[in-house]
Amino acid sequence: MISVVAPVYNEGAGVDRFLRRMDEVLAGYEYELILVDDGSRDDSWNRIAACAVLDPRIHGVRLSRNFGKEAALLAGLEHATGDATVVIDADLQHPPSAIPEMIRRWRSGAQVVEAVKRNRTGQSLSSRLGARVFNGAFTRLTQVDLVDATDFRLLGRPALDALLRMPEHSSFFRGTSSWIGFTRETVEIDIDHREGGTSRWTARSLFRLAVNGLTSFTSAPLHLVTGVGLTFAAFSLVLGVQTLVRWMQGHSVAGFPTVILLLLITGTFVLLGLGVIGEYLARIHEEVRGRPRYLIQEHAGGHRVTETTGP
Ligand code: UDP
Ligand code: MG
Repeated sequence: MISVVAPVYNEGAGVDRFLRRMDEVLAGYEYELILVDDGSRDDSWNRIAACAVLDPRIHGVRLSRNFGKEAALLAGLEHATGDATVVIDADLQHPPSAIPEMIRRWRSGAQVVEAVKRNRTGQSLSSRLGARVFNGAFTRLTQVDLVDATDFRLLGRPALDALLRMPEHSSFFRGTSSWIGFTRETVEIDIDHREGGTSRWTARSLFRLAVNGLTSFTSAPLHLVTGVGLTFAAFSLVLGVQTLVRWMQGHSVAGFPTVILLLLITGTFVLLGLGVIGEYLARIHEEVRGRPRYLIQEHAGGHRVTETTGP
């Protein structure tokens, strides 16, 4: 049995389009479709609930508010019961036509099948550049290869169980689903233009995702701060001795620009360093508080109405 998990946030009419498409693509498979409504403020939930009543294969999970895509994914994954689970965006930017190929790869032995982007037509230049810089930095710092990766993935049961054992509060699906290892294969996809609506990500939420992803995977930025500090210390020693010697020799020290520059540079690095430490502190704080990663308001269809909270 195949589970398909899709997060939905204010997709409106896109929900019906998505369900029709899935119905076409998955005809011939035994499957369940888990739609997680991430606190939509439009009629997405009503549409999901209406379809779930008609079709027993559809299971709607409604989160109590917008918890973000990562939390919505997690909620969906925790409800998946299939032998293999496919994660896909509900906006049809991930071509559902790739699913049969992913299932084929899984049947021939792969535990994780990742869809990688062949192109990025649906995206602006700035987001392409941002993704490039982030994926490149992430791959280099963490040895988890993210280049051209997407959230569109198939996970076999053992891989999914491994993933769900991770206790982190702020998960980063693209990273964690690579970190677990397992036999992996990739299929190439073309990212389509968004059909209806606009991207739910803002520059700010993307920046947060990037920072969360990095801080949850590597402490390299902390070591970088140490490295920069040591470099500064070396320079300080040389410059300090030089300044003292010149002062003792009676040379008046003319260096207004030097003083200003040094102040600015050290100020910047000190604040950046504090910021980096602060990001990790915030992560620790979040994990220690240990609040549930999402809250469920209600279910539709799927015959499961027992749980009310996440783990
Ligand atoms: N999404 C979500 N919660 C959010 C933002 C997005 O569940 O807070 C869902 C959205 O409905 C879509 C998927 O995540 O199914 C990808 O979102 P989007 O298309 O906005 O991202 P992009 O394709 O630009 O990366
Ligand atoms: Mg999209």
